[in-house]
Amino acid sequence: MTILSFFTRASRAFNGYPASSKLLLLCTLSLSGGGVVAYSEAQVDASKTSVQVNEKDCKKKRVVVLGTGWAGISFLKDLDVSAYDVQVVSPRNYFAFTPLLPSVTCGTVEARSIVEPVRNIIKKRNGEIQFWEAECMKIDAANKKLLCRYTVENNLVGNDEFTLEYDYLVIAVGAQVNTFNTPGVLENCHFLKEVEDAQKIRRSVIDCFEKAVLPGLSEEERRINLHFVIVGGGPTGVEFAAELHDFVQEDLVNLYPSVKDLVKITVIQSGDHILNMFDERISSFAEQKFRRDGIEVQTGSRVISVSDKEITMKLKAKGEICSVPHGLVVWSTGVETRPFVKDFMGQIGQANRRVLATDEWLRVKGCEDVYALGDCATINQRKVMEDIAAIFKAADKDNSGFLTVEEFKDVIDDILERYPQVEHYLKSKHLRDVTDLMKDSEGNDIDKVDIEGFKLALCQADSQVKNLPATAQVAAQQGAYLSKCFNRKYKWKDNPEGPRRFRGSGRHQFHPFQYKHLGQFAPLGGEQAAAELPGDWVSMGRSTQWLWYSVYASKQVSWRTRVLVVSDWTRRFIFGRDSSRI
Ligand code: FAD
Ligand code: MG
Repeated sequence: MTILSFFTRASRAFNGYPASSKLLLLCTLSLSGGGVVAYSEAQVDASKTSVQVNEKDCKKKRVVVLGTGWAGISFLKDLDVSAYDVQVVSPRNYFAFTPLLPSVTCGTVEARSIVEPVRNIIKKRNGEIQFWEAECMKIDAANKKLLCRYTVENNLVGNDEFTLEYDYLVIAVGAQVNTFNTPGVLENCHFLKEVEDAQKIRRSVIDCFEKAVLPGLSEEERRINLHFVIVGGGPTGVEFAAELHDFVQEDLVNLYPSVKDLVKITVIQSGDHILNMFDERISSFAEQKFRRDGIEVQTGSRVISVSDKEITMKLKAKGEICSVPHGLVVWSTGVETRPFVKDFMGQIGQANRRVLATDEWLRVKGCEDVYALGDCATINQRKVMEDIAAIFKAADKDNSGFLTVEEFKDVIDDILERYPQVEHYLKSKHLRDVTDLMKDSEGNDIDKVDIEGFKLALCQADSQVKNLPATAQVAAQQGAYLSKCFNRKYKWKDNPEGPRRFRGSGRHQFHPFQYKHLGQFAPLGGEQAAAELPGDWVSMGRSTQWLWYSVYASKQVSWRTRVLVVSDWTRRFIFGRDSSRI
């Protein structure tokens, strides 16, 4: 039996025993302080629901899901497919585990080890979800229709385009690379967003080395071929720089000894520090480590153009413009909204916004029955000051014109749930209780407030509203949350569970989405990593790298990919990375 067929069989065997895999997952997650999703292990009761399908078929609402990334797959994972007719549209017929993409660029893991075919996932749901490998071109919000196009080139048979109707639409299409309209970027830079991008980078890195050792080149030409530039000092850029450095030092210097001293890696960052979204300790640890490794970090520089030979930037402090020759540039600076989502935003009165806005229940603002989650949307958190008069009125039960401590306490749970910024505000001020907010203008405790006092107490809370980061963690949690809402949509109609409506009567049907930050990793190469864990806990060094291995193995979407990834890591430890250019 080959190793591969052993893995396949073992994977099938594990799939038959979800409990055993859950146990391992639990062990690893408890080590790591939590994780995102493990898809295959949570094939909840798919068999249980299948019987009811035919009876309900006629009245089933059609849910169309756009995208098979973190948000889309996490939504499908727990959705009660017996209640809906579910159709999925995505140009990629697989889910990609994006956090390991930087490892694919240098062959630390293979591309196929981090992807799971969507049809495998559907199969586990007893085929009750239909998948179309196509791209949504246009959303017709008024008629609840989608125009889609089959994406594979050279489709010689049939029409490429088709329309789909929906009752509910779930937009989970992620975002696209943002070049900030910088001239030459599209033509001359690599990106690191999709699996194909990572494979292309892997081939190009080897190309640079092969070119650099060709006969007849000057030392300067060899040096230029081996200058690798990364634009963007965020987690992806930094992780790629670290991976590349390891690849060069651990594998390539032995294979290309004549040019080993000519390799240079530069990270260009417009801000003052790399990893500036992390805790300061992590960003300075990363900068020190890069300095020791010889990776140049050029902060305070904005790239203004890229040609096939040079990258030109403006040094912010001096206003100077300088150009440096390069062998390869990877552009990793941020993301922007996809054009067809922009068009949809125009239809629903969001033309002036940068990103599609939803409310706290992930419902697209200005459009019924459409939901958006993951990188393609942001939650527009309602401000407490917009509703302050309504809250006061609802809380002042005896219409006295004053809120007593008891009246305030009566509504506080609803306020904290509906306006989570109030809780962040209390934490930032180190206040234990909202009643600590009841002060007069001199700061003395009081036992009742009028509307002006109430406004004064909460007027600074809205400054604590924060946009959620564009991460897999957020996307996956949103997908899981939305599927729960869908599963209870009809069953719980008369039994609302959300906070009370301060404007209007009754309660909201569901709790609003609440993000739980489970921590964030930054692998820094040389078997070292940094991590920000819940409770402002920071961990750095080799042990953190082992935590990273265990968390990322546990978060894999199936036993198949988990075995493949772990075996890739083991192969790399034993034999090094493969430098064949295929
Ligand atoms: P995506 O996962 O991008 O999925 C979008 C889906 O929509 C894809 O299936 C795509 O094919 C499909 N689609 C696109 N256009 C259309 C269309 N027109 N019609 C239909 N479908 C369409 N986050 C972390 O939390 N931790 C990390 O370590 C981490 N590392 C990362 C490393 C890299 C290299 C990258 C690129 C990202 C990383 N992220 C990480 C961020 C994370 O990948 C994203 O936040 C996450 O993928 C967002 O999920 P999503 O479902 O919104 O979008
Ligand atoms: Mg009163």
